[in-house]
Amino acid sequence: MSESGAVTTIATKRRIPLHTKILIGLVIGAVAGLVANFAASKSPASAEAITFVAVNVAEPIGKVFLRLVIMVVVPLVFSALTLGVMELGDVRRLGRVGLRTLGFTLILSLTSVAIGIGLVTLIKPGASLSPAQQQQLSERFAAQADVSTGKAEKSKTVKDTLLDLLPENPLQEMVGAVDGTSPGNGMLAVMVFSLIVGIALTMTPDRTRPLVQVLEGVFDVSMTIIGFAMRLAPFAVACLLFSVTSQMGLDILLVLLRFVFTVLLGIGLQMFVVYPLLLVLAARLKPVKFFRDVSEAIFTAFGTSSSNATLPTSLRVAKEELKLKPEVSQFVLTVGATANQNGTALFEGVVVLFLAQVFGVELTMMQQVTVVLMAVLAGVGTAGVPGGSIPLIIIVLKTVGVPPQGIALVLGVDRLLDMCRTTLNVTGDLVLAACVSRTEERSEKAIPERALG
Ligand code: ASP
Repeated sequence: MSESGAVTTIATKRRIPLHTKILIGLVIGAVAGLVANFAASKSPASAEAITFVAVNVAEPIGKVFLRLVIMVVVPLVFSALTLGVMELGDVRRLGRVGLRTLGFTLILSLTSVAIGIGLVTLIKPGASLSPAQQQQLSERFAAQADVSTGKAEKSKTVKDTLLDLLPENPLQEMVGAVDGTSPGNGMLAVMVFSLIVGIALTMTPDRTRPLVQVLEGVFDVSMTIIGFAMRLAPFAVACLLFSVTSQMGLDILLVLLRFVFTVLLGIGLQMFVVYPLLLVLAARLKPVKFFRDVSEAIFTAFGTSSSNATLPTSLRVAKEELKLKPEVSQFVLTVGATANQNGTALFEGVVVLFLAQVFGVELTMMQQVTVVLMAVLAGVGTAGVPGGSIPLIIIVLKTVGVPPQGIALVLGVDRLLDMCRTTLNVTGDLVLAACVSRTEERSEKAIPERALG
């Protein structure tokens, strides 16, 4: 090959974005799996050979990917949530604006999680596999599902579950969150511990600066390691998908389509029903005009799949198009880019319940509440970068006893869904900014009027 040819090839190779590579991995894995599934149905000898390849080649490669992610999940969640709460900690200093931000954030996150969980329970996108197929999948993937189903059986009282949110031994919970041996609530308890540390840090700002820097370092390093894992993702997705489709055939792909539909429907409902309602009721703005005004931020979010990368555009749009008070919208949008991620919260809830349906894992009421709480907290703890929610989903899956390998099914279509959920995240931040800013303006006007009256 001529030198320029080689250079062009390298340049072309470099230019293929990761999400396209993952999609190619999905297609190759699915097609190879379907062919293998067909071959296996024709001859028992090839069925054996295919199982051998799936168990000894495809699955180990998938596991390397998962382990790279899981190994940094605890430090990642701890540092991200603590730092996230520290940012929210400014809330106290900002008084009324802060409280309003917190209130609207809670309303927006809870409605989006409720919509997601409602839809996934109604549509049941993962439940169309036969019990025999579920059994097959679980046998292949679900060593840890049994462990935690066992755990769920010894279910605790509501009082103990709530008490266990406060970990007696946070380090033990951190270990337990990963290997499933936690005495309390595992990851949820770790999250509560992070919240408490975050609050305490905001109250002792002077002498804790070095600790904050360490946490920022831990966060950055964890994200870099997740970056290593993501480079492996195209191969892992191909391998894990091969392993699933060679067993399940076309059925599993239809299940996946229904899952995509469920997520998009949920995002649509939050975007075009909940947001307009809030805009009219709280911000007194016309929804159609609002969407027109913020369209630049919407397109940037859709294109970049990153709330952080869209923040400068959101700030500009809030000031120049929506004409919101800059001191309010700056605070709300900056905090919101990390803490108010409605699309992410909705997605995480849907994925976990969907995969539980796929693997036939029955979640107890308490486990479902755990999913809701973790999804809302995940909205605070997820980094506003492409694929930021993946590590958190893996840990929630482990917490409620759904095999984390199932994430492969979702990873293949994640980029498209990431673009859509990031769009919801960013629009949600702008809705939040509009509501807080407009209610704030009204309160400010009301005070002098009352004083005059
Ligand atoms: N990409 C999302 C964001 O930046 C985070 C995620 O859900 O993965 O808002």
